[in-house]
Amino acid sequence: MENNITKEELSTIIRSKLSRHYGISTTEADRAQMYKSCARTVLELLSEKRTKFNQKIKENESKKIYYLCMEFLVGRSLKNNLYNLGIEEMFREVLEEWNFELEDLYQEEPDPGLGNGGLGRLASCFMDSLATLEYPAMGYSICYEYGLFKQKIVDGWQMELPDIWLPGGHVWLNQRNDLVCHVRFNGHVEENWTDEGLEVKHLNYDEIEAVPYDLMISGADSEGVAILRLWRARDLNNFDMGSFASGDYDRAMTEKMNAELICKVLYPSDNHFEGKSLRLKQQYFLVSATIQDIISEHLQQYESLDNFSAKVAIHVNDTHPALCIPELMRILLDEYQYSWPKAYQIVKQTVSYTNHTVLSEALEKWPEDLIKGQLPRIYGIIKGLNESYCQELWKRYPGDWDKIERMAIISHGQIRMANLCVIGSSRVNGVSKLHSDILKKQVFSDYYQVEAKKFTSVTNGIAHRRWLCQSNPLLGKLLDECIGTRYKKDARQLGKFRVFYEDNSVLEQLQSIKLANKIRFANRMHKYGVTMDPESIFVVQAKRLHEYKRQLLNALRIISIYLDLKENPNLNIPPQTFLFAAKAAPGYYTAKEVIRLIWHLSAHIEKDATIREKIRVVFLENYDVTMAESLLPAAEVSEQISLAGKEASGTGNMKMMINGALTIGTMDGANVEIHEAVGKENMFIFGMNAEEVERKWKEGYAASSYYHNNEKIHKVVNSLRQGFNGESFESIYRYLLVGDYGIGDPYMCLADFQDYLGVYQQLLDEYNDPIKWNQMSLMNIAGAERFAADRSIQEYTKQIWNIPTLI
Ligand SMILES: *Cc1c(COP(=O)(O)O)cnc(C)c1O
Repeated sequence: MENNITKEELSTIIRSKLSRHYGISTTEADRAQMYKSCARTVLELLSEKRTKFNQKIKENESKKIYYLCMEFLVGRSLKNNLYNLGIEEMFREVLEEWNFELEDLYQEEPDPGLGNGGLGRLASCFMDSLATLEYPAMGYSICYEYGLFKQKIVDGWQMELPDIWLPGGHVWLNQRNDLVCHVRFNGHVEENWTDEGLEVKHLNYDEIEAVPYDLMISGADSEGVAILRLWRARDLNNFDMGSFASGDYDRAMTEKMNAELICKVLYPSDNHFEGKSLRLKQQYFLVSATIQDIISEHLQQYESLDNFSAKVAIHVNDTHPALCIPELMRILLDEYQYSWPKAYQIVKQTVSYTNHTVLSEALEKWPEDLIKGQLPRIYGIIKGLNESYCQELWKRYPGDWDKIERMAIISHGQIRMANLCVIGSSRVNGVSKLHSDILKKQVFSDYYQVEAKKFTSVTNGIAHRRWLCQSNPLLGKLLDECIGTRYKKDARQLGKFRVFYEDNSVLEQLQSIKLANKIRFANRMHKYGVTMDPESIFVVQAKRLHEYKRQLLNALRIISIYLDLKENPNLNIPPQTFLFAAKAAPGYYTAKEVIRLIWHLSAHIEKDATIREKIRVVFLENYDVTMAESLLPAAEVSEQISLAGKEASGTGNMKMMINGALTIGTMDGANVEIHEAVGKENMFIFGMNAEEVERKWKEGYAASSYYHNNEKIHKVVNSLRQGFNGESFESIYRYLLVGDYGIGDPYMCLADFQDYLGVYQQLLDEYNDPIKWNQMSLMNIAGAERFAADRSIQEYTKQIWNIPTLI
């Protein structure tokens, strides 16, 4: 490790923090004070490291990566930074001398939920890799005052409580008053022809301040530090002095509230477009502040923006920050007097875009009028981009109005953000091979015909240091002993673990590590009144609740086993614990009904002493990064059962795989590549593939025919009417057979049901053979070699950002 601080120095710094902030010594400090003093100590070390790293970036005139995302699901910082700085053990020792447990201090930290799920977690994993690989990188997002809601289940119904992560989380944020900038909304645009050409003026706008807060993320065993810059809105200029002076305090204060509303709360819908005007404000607020910040940083180092695209890569993670395209155009045109073609060229060469979903309800389409009213200048630029692009298309496809209409940015009064992103970017990528193929063949096929080279694919990855080394220290230790420690910086080394396929001692250790992790998790949950048997097989589905992810299919499978057990209580099956963890968007009724079903099914089984010895259902409240870190190492079976063609990649699948779980899943997202990595003998694939799903839709899917022709499905679906724990689930029964719009079972649970049951039975049979099972587990750990975020980032730098590889 490069960090060469001594134990004595460390002890001195922590003491000085306690003294300076609280005026106390180590014997007087409570946990919270000690935690904060440790955090401040880490910050001091990180700042020094960052200063050195900045110097190096400047000297090398390196191209910088700016990663824009409305969500970063960062998780806790203390443990991650201590681990990455290589000083966790030293901290532990120093604290033990003062009778503090490092683990207890970790629990003091709130888990900042500044994201919904996979998208935001991916962004955070990428920050870890960028820092570790020593690329000069900044993430940009919003400093939401309230992150994703805390979930509470009351009688099966999800309740949402505010996530108050500040002021507790504040210790990690460094307010940068030197970098405050201004963002303008509303007003109108005036255009005047002058001798210098067209002059555009934005008048009568409302202006607010954007204040940056920096969060540092240390690279692991490297000189790199990444910065996540989070913007907060602050209203000063619009403070209505008139009202204030005339004693109308209420009015004066309301104005202030409105500006600060912008970063009040994260929108809690995952994979679903929320067309609210406040959401649009959030998006523009983020991109305007960010682009201004990037430009001013560039001009501090270089004379002009002429070399902007050579020195800057701006990445748009999903379409949420798409307005950075017209915003960068605006600044180049209006503030630096670039011509339209030159500005467009710079933008296109600088920006790249990752698509994260093909679900139509998730595609962002803003009403033209909303953008026109709220962002008049941006609207004018989008219109200009649309017109010039359509003109090009007319030349290429004379008379093909349908095609041109499909490819336009603006159509039928709506602005289509995905089209804006494709047209304004140098590169577009999907997040797994299958997903990228679907983009080329379907969603963006028109563009693919015009510019095939623009489209590429980078399969997602995970920060394996967080998800393996930190959260599963026992497995980490076994790997260190078997294959050495190089895998921490080079996940490809994990492949070497295959050599131990026949090593009984290693296989037995894998089994006892898994058991230890199950016990650890069960003990943690016991505090919250949740009981589970660590001797049973842990079957885990942990992810946002969404119809396409098919938690319902999982529940139907459990009901089927339950009914079998009712019929034949002596059925010989291994004890099974089905663990669910999932938040539903607050307004997503179907998703909440599925939670209710799982919860009452769990309660129903809990009341039946003979059944609960064999199967048990546990719904874990409030899934977040911290819970994932203790749950996923305890998983033996990873449920990845989305309808094929719908899950863009998934990363939960990778996290469980690297911790030795076996996957039961469909050929969807990155499951396809997991299958490629471990082979069909080490994975349980079932159900239709994406093409078969397409075909079935075309043929006409009738859920009711499965209901009428399959006895088991008939029984399982019928059981919903009578329900569980005294609650009927008529609504789900109807959802499966009739549906709201006459399409029963829109995610085809019934079509894949029989195959799911059959393959799950095979899985249980394999579980009876521990040696075989542990061999499969080992092959999954080794096969995870290709799913590190480090690998994803190397691909981005090469294929997308055009940055020379550093390592
Ligand atoms: C990894 C992760 C996800 C993504 O899970 P998927 O199964 O890929 O949808 C969501 N939430 C949290 C807290 C995670 O850590």
